[in-house]
Amino acid sequence: MIYLDANATTPVDPLVIDAMLPFLCEHYANPSASHAAGRVARRATDHARGELAALLHAEPEEIIFTSGGTESINAVHASVRSLWPKKPDLIITGTEHPAVLESAARWRKCGGKVVHAPVHADGRVDLDALRAAVKSGGTALVSIMWANNETGVIAPMHEIAAIAHAAGALVHTDAVQAAGKFPLDVKTAPVDFLSLSGHKMHAPKGVGALYVSRRVRFEPLLIGGGQENGRRSGTENVPGIVALGKAAELARRHFDDGTKARIHAMRDRFEHLVHAALPDMRIHGCPTHRLHNTSLLCLPEIDAAGMLILLDQQGICVSAGSACHTGTLHSSHTLEAMGVSARDAACTLRFSFHRFNTKDEAETAAHAVIAAAHKLHAEKGDDSVVITI
Ligand code: PLP
Repeated sequence: MIYLDANATTPVDPLVIDAMLPFLCEHYANPSASHAAGRVARRATDHARGELAALLHAEPEEIIFTSGGTESINAVHASVRSLWPKKPDLIITGTEHPAVLESAARWRKCGGKVVHAPVHADGRVDLDALRAAVKSGGTALVSIMWANNETGVIAPMHEIAAIAHAAGALVHTDAVQAAGKFPLDVKTAPVDFLSLSGHKMHAPKGVGALYVSRRVRFEPLLIGGGQENGRRSGTENVPGIVALGKAAELARRHFDDGTKARIHAMRDRFEHLVHAALPDMRIHGCPTHRLHNTSLLCLPEIDAAGMLILLDQQGICVSAGSACHTGTLHSSHTLEAMGVSARDAACTLRFSFHRFNTKDEAETAAHAVIAAAHKLHAEKGDDSVVITI
């Protein structure tokens, strides 16, 4: 198998598995227990909290462990809506993940107003339009993703935070696709809330984190036993939290050891080979502010669904549109928000690389794409002959 669907989920790093296994086997105690075994689990979650804080340049007490990106996002929206009822507006973009879009729909149901800041054709938010949309006294929250799951487009988070704060609004960023891929610093890009997810950064599914700045009040989504300092009740997922802590530690190490450059070179090599053979190929998204692992390719007139099947037959895993809604091939709301035609969207596939991929895999995938494109093109030609006859 050649797995090029890292933005859907990543393989768990063997070092992460090694770190978490003891907490599934011998160190299974409840971290709230006051006996020695409980203290072992508590120390492990405290250590993981420190690793997450280091990843974000935050303080450990600003980190809340959750079940993943979706919960973190929902918790922020619910908290802000509840604590600032007199400020009705939530500002998002049309390229957000469904976790934000659906949570925004609930915001509207709870009497709030959702304002969409437009994005340019390259997927970057229109900062002038954002500036015009943020209303002093009216906007409670600006919630804009740091990196897009489909295009890989990276948002100017520092500027977004400045615009929101100038109008007294809070800022949340869905950093699920950004965390672990490039360094994030909540001091230089001073967001108030940040959501991230373990399974996008080589930890298992079902664990995530939420950063809540010390400056801001927060009302928990889950209430009960008062874990996570009263901000997220429920017995902690200790193995998952330990895994996420290890993944954060490894991510920081890989920022400086050439891993990012290697993935970048692999992705560029893949794009170069495909482009050389299929010069009509286009890449969606801002070329200068794009995740180094992501390639959202449009091959005009080549049906992405057909291509996906041909690649799958050769054991090459990629995604058409956003993988969070797999099962059905539907038009991507992200591409629609960027003004891409439905016809081009239907010819678009996402390739997303990770650190365990090799240059050979990238080249094999490129050759497979080229061969599949020729095959689909020829079949299309045959069809038109049949129709003509
Ligand atoms: N936000 C983005 C940008 C994502 O890509 C995803 C998952 O695909 C999520 C949020 C949801 O995260 P989780 O799967 O951890 O709930």
